[in-house]
Amino acid sequence: MLTGTQVAFIGGDARQLEVIRRLTELDATVTLIGFDNLKQTFDGATHAEMTEEAFENADAVLLPVVGTDDEGKIEGVFTSKELRLTSECLGRLPKHAKVYAGMAKPYLRNLCEQHGIALVELLERDDVAIYNSIPTAEGALMLAMQHTDITIHGSTAVVLGFGRTGMTMARALQGLGAKVLVGVRREEHYARAYEMGFEPFHTAQLQSKVVGADLLFNTVPSPIVTASVIAALPPRAVIIDLASKPGGTDFRFAERRGVKAMLAPGLPGIVAPKTAGRIIASVVSQLIMEDSAKRGNEA
Ligand code: NAP
Repeated sequence: MLTGTQVAFIGGDARQLEVIRRLTELDATVTLIGFDNLKQTFDGATHAEMTEEAFENADAVLLPVVGTDDEGKIEGVFTSKELRLTSECLGRLPKHAKVYAGMAKPYLRNLCEQHGIALVELLERDDVAIYNSIPTAEGALMLAMQHTDITIHGSTAVVLGFGRTGMTMARALQGLGAKVLVGVRREEHYARAYEMGFEPFHTAQLQSKVVGADLLFNTVPSPIVTASVIAALPPRAVIIDLASKPGGTDFRFAERRGVKAMLAPGLPGIVAPKTAGRIIASVVSQLIMEDSAKRGNEA
């Protein structure tokens, strides 16, 4: 349980509601900043304004998945007020406090470092990335269905990258009956992809491997789907780029060539906000409980 642990939530979207629900169920004392338009109520949660005082006793601060922008602005869909994380606010936190966000821009990293406050970037954790790959792959399949006039069953799909997202994507396509080719750069990924029943190839051979592709899913966050790769694709092919912005596709050339290509960021929060929220809730509650137990042992 989290009795006596104080947690401040600042901004966020539907995903954050799952985290609030979980922490209030665990009896944490929750302060909600930037939720003034929220219709729902949570037992054990109170609303507060974005003031320095609101940070004074917090053991944990929970920011939205995207953290802050480059100027410290925090997005909140449940408020029309501007939320900004300032140095003054962060400076009021007790030294043992931790800040949690999905990811952090240099602004947030610098601020936490400046005040000696630990920052946890949840999306960097393997477990979160693997759980998140499930709604990501489902969202990518949804886009594939929306943008093609064929079934995934019987199609030829190329997946680039065989990490946390690529592996799930390849397996989901295989489960629906697609012929799946997987582009890798490591021998152990080649071997694993072969073992799992995919057709592996080295990304150096990408151009020759896309000739018969109906679908191309990219998870490599560097320019890999180049003009020459796009030129080798059949015009019917659809490129769904899952890699973080700006993706790995030459979108300008794809448009010129008439090949449908789309960058599809943030799919878990779009197609399954509840599941995406539960993934964060489960990991965050575990981490806060561990910290709280550590403080209890030290006291
Ligand atoms: P990951 O586990 O690190 O996987 C990335 C894969 O790409 C690895 O297999 C890596 O191989 C490979 N790779 C990287 N650079 C390469 C290159 N130049 N040539 C060939 N292969 C290369 O990352 P992830 O968690 O799967 O995430 C992949 C991307 O998707 C990230 O940009 C992430 O931000 C994004 N993402 C997007 C969504 C969404 O909703 N669209 C959701 C989750 C994640 P090595 O192991 O050899 O490095």
